[in-house]
Amino acid sequence: MKRRGFCVFEPELLNDGVLASVDLPLEVSLDCPVCQRRRRTVLFAALNSPGLCPYGRHEFGWWVSVTVSPGAVRLEFDYDYVPFVDAKHTTNEDTYAPYAGREKGAPTWVRFRYWVQCGCGLRRRYLSDENAQCGCGRRVLASGEARLGWFELPISGTSE
Ligand SMILES: [Zn+2]
Ligand SMILES: [Zn+2]
Repeated sequence: MKRRGFCVFEPELLNDGVLASVDLPLEVSLDCPVCQRRRRTVLFAALNSPGLCPYGRHEFGWWVSVTVSPGAVRLEFDYDYVPFVDAKHTTNEDTYAPYAGREKGAPTWVRFRYWVQCGCGLRRRYLSDENAQCGCGRRVLASGEARLGWFELPISGTSE
């Protein structure tokens, strides 16, 4: 079954910071039915290209889109999911800390790079999970937790 995952990032910027663009690559933690392992960090090196599952070194998923609007970033990626039992944690899947409480088949972690122009004029690239501080010494990000979700794609809605 094909799913479309998405990430919405609406950072609260400080010091007249302006969200400029999103940069490569995109990393997403996904459950891989090929390896039958949960929470693989799939690397999408380029937009409109397949991701790489590092565990099995096979292609997995497809980076569909990046939309940057004033104050918000939306990233979308397609991937396949069918329910499976984790190949390593077969008996403790529900209690193993990295898996516990996380929805099976859902994207559970994301990291990407984005550019912000600070009010001082300096433009810098930041990681989405870092506490962004400009070279002028001021923080440019007050808060910015990326939200993740997914929805089922119709059978005909393949993009690969
Ligand atoms: Zn895999
Ligand atoms: Zn600055």
